Amino acid sequence: MKTIKDFDFSNKKALIRVDFNVPMDENKNVTDTTRIQAAKASIDYILKNGGTCVLMSHLGRPKGKDKELSLKHIVPAVSQVLGVPVTFIDDCIGAKVEEEVNALPTGSVALLENLRFYEEEQKGDKTFAEALAKNGDIYVNDAFGTAHRKHASTAVIAESFGKNVCFGLLLASEIESINKVLHDNNKPVTAIIGGAKVSSKITVIENILDAIDHLIIGGGMAFTFLKAQGGQIGNSLVEDDKMQVALDVLKKAKEKNVSVHLPIDVVVADAFKNDANTKTVPANEIPEGWMGLDNGEESNKAFRDIILKSKTILWNGPVGVFEMSSFANGTIAIGKAIAEATGKGAFSLVGGGDSVAATKQLGLTDAMSYISTGGGAMLEMLEGKDLPGIIAIQNAK
Ligand code: AMP
Repeated sequence: MKTIKDFDFSNKKALIRVDFNVPMDENKNVTDTTRIQAAKASIDYILKNGGTCVLMSHLGRPKGKDKELSLKHIVPAVSQVLGVPVTFIDDCIGAKVEEEVNALPTGSVALLENLRFYEEEQKGDKTFAEALAKNGDIYVNDAFGTAHRKHASTAVIAESFGKNVCFGLLLASEIESINKVLHDNNKPVTAIIGGAKVSSKITVIENILDAIDHLIIGGGMAFTFLKAQGGQIGNSLVEDDKMQVALDVLKKAKEKNVSVHLPIDVVVADAFKNDANTKTVPANEIPEGWMGLDNGEESNKAFRDIILKSKTILWNGPVGVFEMSSFANGTIAIGKAIAEATGKGAFSLVGGGDSVAATKQLGLTDAMSYISTGGGAMLEMLEGKDLPGIIAIQNAK
């Protein structure tokens, strides 16, 4: 895996694809700088090694040149996080941009305008990629969040740089973390897969069965499995058309000696709201008119025991409707157990918007081994797919 550490950046311009698709408030202040912080290590390294950094990213989903989604709004936040001045260049291709890039003093940082102001970016247009490539000597991809897209700046552009392409430190860590779970793992390996639907996670589950010893299934998707096995699930979320798929996965898991753990007891509610009436019942005996919205205490305890015995842990998806405080306990219990196991030496990888948010809410971010920065990209890697942004660098000649 070729990373920035394999290159000499002195007097070179690194054209770095970062993921600065950050949230902003109505006054255009960046409200969460996590993604900028995530790119800092690579930028610092290149600057320290005598290079100049030309950063490029998309922001939101603009239709044409939409001033509201200009990357100029985030320049103060980028500058603050990096601790250096950042020059904004108000386009990303063309003679004027090239001139400004060439005029950058060695050791400086510049940010190009939103790549998606050009529809050619998402179309993976070769001519557009070639025009972008004029802005650097070495191409660095450090945007895991878009690595599953075959866009001009994330994949197609690599061809224009020959051998001068590499992974940034963030993207390299993401690949390494998934590798530590799926291939180079310490056993026992436990995956906790939650979330709303079976349909969005089934390919992940099928693909990870070869690597894991325990599979904890939680959240809305658990009820399709419970119903498929003959359980009474009341008004809980269910995908009737996925019941056979669920049974097939359980059969495959058994063949591969993977222990599957479904909730034992669940907290049920008589309405989908935080102040609904609730009670705890066996997970396969939910009365009509009630829906399962969280794991019960018995499940929490059982899952904690499994997690604490694990040496490698993957968590993707909440095991209850954690956005409502009445149904957050199961997800909190999972987060705490993973943090505890990590403290005892296990490797833990947390990914997916909701699990990452829950980890942050609990103040456990630093207690996990690795928190992934890419939801969709991580799922596709776990599904065993080749990501265009990764392949483009691995195949560079
Ligand atoms: P996903 O995007 O598939 O990872 O699903 C995350 C969503 O699943 C969150 O918004 C949770 O509130 C929701 N969820 C988790 N457990 C349940 C449940 N038992 N019933 C309904 N929704 C749930």
